[in-house]
Amino acid sequence: MDDMTNFGNTAEARDIRHHFHGYTNARRHMDVGPMIIEDGEGIYVTDTSGKRYIEGLAGLWSVGVGFKERRLIEAATRQLEKLPFYHNFGHKSHGPAIDLAEKLVGIAPVPMSKVFYTNSGSEANDTVLKMVWYRSNALGKPEKKKVIARTRGYHGVTIAAASLTGLPYNHRSFDLPLDRVLHTTCPHYWKEGRDGESEEQFATRCAEDLEALIQREGPDTVAAFWAEPVMGAGGVVVPPKGYFDKIQAVLAKYDILFVADEVICGFGRTGEMFGSTTYGIRPDVMVMSKQITSSYVPFSAILMNERFFAPIADESDRISTFGHGYTAGGHPLGAAVALENLAIIQENDLVGNAREVGAHFRARLETLKSSPLVGEVRGVGLIAAVELVEDKQAKSVTTPGRLGTMMNAAMHRNGLISRNMTDTVAFCPPMIITRQQADDMFEIVAKSLAELEAEVG
Ligand code: PLP
Repeated sequence: MDDMTNFGNTAEARDIRHHFHGYTNARRHMDVGPMIIEDGEGIYVTDTSGKRYIEGLAGLWSVGVGFKERRLIEAATRQLEKLPFYHNFGHKSHGPAIDLAEKLVGIAPVPMSKVFYTNSGSEANDTVLKMVWYRSNALGKPEKKKVIARTRGYHGVTIAAASLTGLPYNHRSFDLPLDRVLHTTCPHYWKEGRDGESEEQFATRCAEDLEALIQREGPDTVAAFWAEPVMGAGGVVVPPKGYFDKIQAVLAKYDILFVADEVICGFGRTGEMFGSTTYGIRPDVMVMSKQITSSYVPFSAILMNERFFAPIADESDRISTFGHGYTAGGHPLGAAVALENLAIIQENDLVGNAREVGAHFRARLETLKSSPLVGEVRGVGLIAAVELVEDKQAKSVTTPGRLGTMMNAAMHRNGLISRNMTDTVAFCPPMIITRQQADDMFEIVAKSLAELEAEVG
């Protein structure tokens, strides 16, 4: 209780008393308390003190059409008034789920067949892993159950999804990853590339590492490969030139499925409708969430091709049912909001906006490279990052996370919400952002960097 004396019986104190936050140091939270956001409009949010911020990460890489979009509010209201809930178990269906499934298959970058609905990115990835195992059993290949994801990849936090995720704090003390989930090289050229190695050579090495892992484990035991087209939470890692072509050649050789996690990249973030389009990925399965409803409603979807679906359908026939599904999967509210959200994205060409404003913003970020503290500026479309270093030559820092945390705090003071992943600060604003607003955001980044330089001397 002592910890809360500074806060009296305020909302802050009540938050500390009763609210256990995700991705938060739970002990430290008792001292620092929450930042409480109470309003949002366009690319801005306002906290309870009345301070307004640019939401430089679109919430959690997700509020694509911005806050308080009337069309989404109205679509949600219409749906709630008509049919607030129905499910899809036992052959039941409803209009929004059917319309959205048809829409997703229609805009897919490669021929797709079916949509399965889930409620979060984690749940979707978890479900895909179950489907991969089910499918291998259906094909009479019970040994083909291992899957390969990448170091620093992010696929969520349920038991399977956290196992796929390649970040230490998602495994540590959780007894993860599961032993059927393996990780291969993170394709971050700036960080992992060797002296004298070209980007293309590095991409080749990544594919060779994948092939060596498959060989070590036994090609008949590996069922699927998981990747975000651009890694988000792992630090906005843009793949090196030719990377996905080389990776896909290896997967084809060993009959391994490609699962594209489009949870951040999907619906325009990379300047194309899907990250898979940007990088020439031909996935068997696509996982979608976040920007599918601009996060106004929890929702996710798994899009799969016929090659993936058919054996699963046969197995469900043999067993008599597909023994998997969620009460709220394909929820009419989420599906209705998703349909309206996708209509807004298409009618207002937010994909084109992400491409154009994103290129402008990233060009401005590039100018920060003259700072002694900036190691790399990277990004594509409207997702970008600045990686901070103490020693530019060695690309290193003495205390990981110090610069990133300080930079994030400075941006926060100056009215920009972002997020640091160790010493990388990420930018992923709502896709409605204008060029002027992107300039405003850049000015805050530049000012904060100057303050950081002064602070660290
Ligand atoms: N996949 C990717 C690429 C993500 O970025 C995230 C969340 O950040 C997830 C999966 C997990 O989604 P959720 O937090 O909705 O479970």
